[in-house]
Amino acid sequence: MSGDRAGLDGGARPLPDQPDVVIIGGGHNALVAAAYLARAGRRVVLLESADRFGGAVTSGRPFPGVDANLSRFSYLVSVLPAPLIAELGLDLELASRRIASYTPVGDGGLLLERRPGSTTAASFAAWAPADELRWHQLERRLTSFAQVVAPTLMEPLPRAADVRSRVEPELWRDLVERPIGELLESSVADDAVRGLLLTDALIGTFAEAHDPGLRQNRCFLYHVLGNGTGEWKVPVGGMGRLAAELVRVARAAGAELRTHSTVGRLRALPGGGAEAELLDGRRLQAPVVLAGCAPAVLDRLLGRPARPPEGSQTKVNLVLRRLPRFRTGIDPATGFAGTLHLNQGYQRLAAAYREAAAGQVPNPLPVEAYCHSLTDPSILGDELRASGAHTLTLFALHTPARLFSADPAGRRAEVGDAALASLQSVLAEPLADCLATDSDGRPCVEVMSPLDVEAELNMPGGHIFHGDLSWPWLEDDLQPSTAAERWGVATADPDILLCGSGSVRGGAVSGLGGHNAAMAVLEGAQP
Ligand SMILES: Cc1cc2nc3c(=O)[nH]c(=O)nc-3n(C[C@H](O)[C@H](O)[C@H](O)COP(=O)(O)OP(=O)(O)OC[C@H]3O[C@@H](n4cnc5c(N)ncnc54)[C@H](O)[C@@H]3O)c2cc1C
Repeated sequence: MSGDRAGLDGGARPLPDQPDVVIIGGGHNALVAAAYLARAGRRVVLLESADRFGGAVTSGRPFPGVDANLSRFSYLVSVLPAPLIAELGLDLELASRRIASYTPVGDGGLLLERRPGSTTAASFAAWAPADELRWHQLERRLTSFAQVVAPTLMEPLPRAADVRSRVEPELWRDLVERPIGELLESSVADDAVRGLLLTDALIGTFAEAHDPGLRQNRCFLYHVLGNGTGEWKVPVGGMGRLAAELVRVARAAGAELRTHSTVGRLRALPGGGAEAELLDGRRLQAPVVLAGCAPAVLDRLLGRPARPPEGSQTKVNLVLRRLPRFRTGIDPATGFAGTLHLNQGYQRLAAAYREAAAGQVPNPLPVEAYCHSLTDPSILGDELRASGAHTLTLFALHTPARLFSADPAGRRAEVGDAALASLQSVLAEPLADCLATDSDGRPCVEVMSPLDVEAELNMPGGHIFHGDLSWPWLEDDLQPSTAAERWGVATADPDILLCGSGSVRGGAVSGLGGHNAAMAVLEGAQP
């Protein structure tokens, strides 16, 4: 596990006197903030309610007797900037995947390499010949957009007009002003190709391609801008490795990190600063408090009405005795090497949205699957690895929290079965024959609905980004008057800043919420 599990850590030891900064929550963003601020000489106290640090960035062994250290929640890394890793001196390897994605179609499939070569070309030629050139053109246009935005992420928010002036005008219109469905439909023709592009717009929101609110566009942008390439990489050793490294550098810099420390109330002090009150009644005041929890949690702590967001992804973690064979005959070591798209055609995604909005579990359920251990076998114990076992993650789209509210356990089982059925639909043999079993003889299948994510991580509604994402720039008509506003981490209280996923550029495993809050504190909260 990342961080410490000592039961005495939070409760028994006295809290340090007169910290400069108190941080609520110990997710990866909060740890990034703690590290930067402690390095700059600030006395930092971080209070995490769980028995470990990392929040959604964690590894664990959910199956008794099975030595597989799974990235139980978040699993791939793209948005975390390379300069942030270097500045903090994190000992972290992010491995590229040989294959970007595989989409089974009929009795074949679309296999896209990370560096498109002859396999990608042959695949397009067989399944979507008209789209090959158009796909490459769209990818190039998106990369050029990403290369403008990515370098701004660790700076104060750029102006929308500045970004707009540096990107292709048509792409600005299509990405930022029109629903993403228009861009996808005008760019590529094949249903599978459109669908696999659209998934980037849906992982992290409940929307359809033509939603006028453009939530899906913002979600899409975050999926394609990471480090200017949009490549999603595998954290070697699992997600817990990132959390452990952040704990290491924050502590080395002098930050005081506490687990088992739940903040139950927060109030802004009349003379400036804020006071956090733990559930056990202890209080801690500081000139600045950073909230690494979700904005809706912060509202509750402040005694204000909260408007919780709604998450809509269900995570299924599996351990397999071996990888199953595909109906298409593709080598499983290739078909499972990238992101495997299941029932994610464009039309299916549209129908699934409508089904879920009407209160039904989509059938068939759009799912994407990813095998960590093919790229990084280090998360498996020696025996398990030698036996040919693998891990597999399924991420089911369009399963909003509202589907689960009446019967959480029953719906969890139903959605879990639907996700497995989605995978089974492309296999040439029963998945059940390939599932590993734990020491009690139970199949290694862990299903987490948005309600389960909320219960485990205190993420309201199970929303994986703490709420819908924001554009990573400042609208032209806004005049920021504080450092917090310039960095996109402001709240209604000048001495309480967001440092988590809910800040303007905080979404995903990026550390940006933490970095940008730390920079705002160091720059000073005054104009
Ligand atoms: C299932 C799932 C899969 C995901 N997959 C990916 C992925 O593959 N790639 C990606 O980039 N992103 C992914 N995400 C999103 C990403 O993980 C999050 O956006 C990010 O990790 C949030 O980090 P954070 O530090 O801002 O907050 P969190 O990780 O939510 O951490 C907040 C912490 O605050 C603590 N806390 C809350 N309230 C209190 C309180 N009152 N007192 C004390 N402590 C408190 C919580 O216990 C928690 O540890 C996924 C998320 C989920 C849930």
